Amino acid sequence: MMDETIAAISSASGEGGIGIIRISGERAYDICKAIFVPAAGKAIEDYSPRTMMYGHVQDGDIALDEVLAVYMKAPHSYTKEDVVEINCHGGYISLRKILHLILKSGARLAEPGEFTKRAFLNGRLDLSQAEAVMDIIKAKTDSSHSIAQNQLEGGLSAKVRALKASVAAILAHVEVSIDFPEEDIEEITMGVLREKTEQLLEEMQELYKTAHTGKILRDGLSTVIAGKPNVGKSSLLNALIGESRAIVTNIPGTTRDVIEEYINIKGIPLRLVDTAGIRSTEDVVEKIGVEKTRQSIETADLVMLVLDASEKLSSEDIEILELLGDKKCIVIINKTDLAPALDEKEIASYVGGRSIIRISAAESTGIRELENEIAEMVYSGSVAYESSAIISNVRHKHAMEKAIGAAGECIKGIDSGMPLDFVEIDLKNVWDSLGEITGDTVSEDLLDVIFSQFCLGK
Ligand code: GDP
Ligand code: ZN
Repeated sequence: MMDETIAAISSASGEGGIGIIRISGERAYDICKAIFVPAAGKAIEDYSPRTMMYGHVQDGDIALDEVLAVYMKAPHSYTKEDVVEINCHGGYISLRKILHLILKSGARLAEPGEFTKRAFLNGRLDLSQAEAVMDIIKAKTDSSHSIAQNQLEGGLSAKVRALKASVAAILAHVEVSIDFPEEDIEEITMGVLREKTEQLLEEMQELYKTAHTGKILRDGLSTVIAGKPNVGKSSLLNALIGESRAIVTNIPGTTRDVIEEYINIKGIPLRLVDTAGIRSTEDVVEKIGVEKTRQSIETADLVMLVLDASEKLSSEDIEILELLGDKKCIVIINKTDLAPALDEKEIASYVGGRSIIRISAAESTGIRELENEIAEMVYSGSVAYESSAIISNVRHKHAMEKAIGAAGECIKGIDSGMPLDFVEIDLKNVWDSLGEITGDTVSEDLLDVIFSQFCLGK
């Protein structure tokens, strides 16, 4: 597979000023020579690698497009193979024609993610870095982008490698003790072994704890603002938008007319559900009623339930309160600027131990406290996301779980007096699970699954 030369359109589909076609593999340079004619009587050989060449893509006598081409000689390229990139006009037809010509000249169409897969297989990136490439492309918020960027720079890899080094050091001692049981120089007593493994376990748990925050920062905290009509949901939304530096993104859904709105609360992207309904003057969502509210609450990570301080608790409020189940929820008492009528003790019996925040959306009071509460929920007990190593990917999270499980087994084995050979097996499992994150110990099948989720041309 790796000796085939691959090609694909690497720029986004649709019309654009520039389109990029990438070729990677042994034949990339020859294909470039076959299809690209530099202008002004120059030859491709006149150019040194990694300099832009101006000219035309020619199919025989027919000029297909005026382009800029660049040749990146192995190993100084994204894939560490010979790579040629052709910048042509960004229309669908010119891209397709040039790609077709390249395929006719001896390349094969790249599979999704195949360039990055080669970069990984050729040792340019480890697996977590390769995955970060896709996360960067897909990032929709500042925080998901910066986590991915950090992961690409090797923040997570470095942490995992350090953990692996600890495992290796412990394993080395264990092996020496197994191989030379009677020599006492390098012998590791069970006590020391246990202590070291315990320490390793703690470090892994530290990293694992970031997964909760990491997932939220990567995907956004899906949030629903619930409450009966007129309690001030739209006003609260506006107050939050006003407070947050900016609406991070406004992404029209493709399948439904749902607009996903992100607001940035202390670096946490809240992905607001059903704001289209909340924001419209018609209050579509509110008309649809309890059933719809139930569905929204079910799929949300966080519910902000709004009650009206100036009115008594109504059966509608109670109906919504009862939908909460064990959802993460912040109960918001709005309109605290008005004469109070709501019996706050009565609410307490419905909300369990949940936080109650008193605000006035109209006067923008209490909003800061609400934001603090949200941040507290997300960051609770875990490190802030500025930390260089953070787990944001479910696959990494599962691998960490396995590593932690195996380290636990290891300690149990020591405590129950298992022979060192058995303890060694558990330690090797820790090693392998950590290696799944960086891709040192990962099956071909899993690689295929991971890279098939990439977009074409990356
Ligand atoms: P929604 O139906 O839940 O979205 O509620 P709206 O945000 O549309 O607000 C309903 C009414 O309550 C509007 O007339 C708002 O101006 C008013 N309102 C919202 N928040 C407050 C508040 O904190 N204090 C007061 N006095 N009025 C508010
Ligand atoms: Zn509304």
